[in-house]
Amino acid sequence: MLNKSDVLKYLNDIGEEVKDLSLEVWNNPETSGNEKESANLYRQILKDYDFKIKEVDGMEHAFIGEYGSGSPVIAVLAEYDALPGLSQALDTKFNPVEENGPGHGCGHNLLGSAALGGVLAIKKYLEETKTKGTIRFYGCPEEETLIGKVKMIKAGAFEGCDLALSWHPMNANTALENAFLSNNSIKFKFHGISAHAAASPESGRSALDAVELMNVGANYLREHIIDSARVHYTITNAGGAPNIVPKEAESWYFVRAPHRKDVDDITERLIKIAQGAAMMTETTVDYEVLGGCYEMLPNKVLFDLTHKNMVEIGSPEYTEEELQFAKTIQESLDPKLVGAEAKKFISSDSNTKVYLHEGVLEKEKSSSIVVAGSSDSGDVSWIMPMNLFLTATWPLGVPAHSWQATSSSGSSIGIKGMLYAAEIFSGMMYDVLNNPNIVKEAKDEFNRRTENNKYISPLR
Ligand SMILES: [Zn+2]
Repeated sequence: MLNKSDVLKYLNDIGEEVKDLSLEVWNNPETSGNEKESANLYRQILKDYDFKIKEVDGMEHAFIGEYGSGSPVIAVLAEYDALPGLSQALDTKFNPVEENGPGHGCGHNLLGSAALGGVLAIKKYLEETKTKGTIRFYGCPEEETLIGKVKMIKAGAFEGCDLALSWHPMNANTALENAFLSNNSIKFKFHGISAHAAASPESGRSALDAVELMNVGANYLREHIIDSARVHYTITNAGGAPNIVPKEAESWYFVRAPHRKDVDDITERLIKIAQGAAMMTETTVDYEVLGGCYEMLPNKVLFDLTHKNMVEIGSPEYTEEELQFAKTIQESLDPKLVGAEAKKFISSDSNTKVYLHEGVLEKEKSSSIVVAGSSDSGDVSWIMPMNLFLTATWPLGVPAHSWQATSSSGSSIGIKGMLYAAEIFSGMMYDVLNNPNIVKEAKDEFNRRTENNKYISPLR
């Protein structure tokens, strides 16, 4: 009969295979919506391990790999998209493999492979012990464009799951209670009347004027929204030649805030500003919500379970060479950035320089940390209980979406953090399969938190 340490030992045995996959994805970065080869690599390995592959309607690079039967049904979220312009060799200085090419600057090569390692280890356990339960590997594309999982939820891909497990590569080992900002991405298109800008300006109605007035209105709005909200825009079409009154113009807005409700409120007000700008300029406006996502809904039960497993398993140790690599990477960064992170994650005030986070952040500290970006993983936490944790895959101070993050995600530091994440996943699944109370309690908490606040897809 396998026990938890046997499962972790087995994961160690297949570690090389998981590592190879991770590096293969790292070496062949594919941006959001183009993850063809990466998704196929995962499909193939899962098939080889007797997982059943289910496709997701209308999404070529999304799929589910399922093993086992009956409840609980555990979803493990995987991503594999890269970022444009972040191509980088495994090096401590800026050194793109391909000028302006894509690269894994968010470490999603690690994100997906840890999820894979976790499910393969638990599959072995289910198989050998004939334990009841289903594990589902979710191949989730298009995370960097914040839309993949929102579309997958709409397509019904998560139906029947009891809870979801997730993580993200970063620069500290910590469970998270709060994460992500909710956001909306909206394009406003203004339509006017073109005319000769010198000969008959009176007969023209400028769509660009409307865009500019809308931006002025939005900038005045800032004073009257909550401090933690963010509104940012670009002009994606400003007309053509200056001697033609612009008939068409377009702006692109992001609205972000800690809670979905605030994003919805601010979006409503922004739409009024757009309509006002159209009225002032006698143009018309229509808008399109390109996407949007939720903040993560906390789940204390899963947070506790994550932290417990992180401590129980213990974080990786590093070689002299790895510490040297981290030190050199760190030297390429703004010392202020490094200092701020060190303050957040390192408790000692000693003067010894710390290059990599070791150990697990204590619970009290981790529950106060918020990951300030947005992610479509947040949406999953609103349809079932979900956890999130980080491991140290990058030196302290390395920001996501940087060449330093790409480099570290292809290094042995990244791989160690990834394998640690895989262990945490299998440890958590082992606990969930062996203690039905966890699902029950996590669901009770989820139901309490969503009772008067149900998920509404940002994609109308
Ligand atoms: Zn990411």
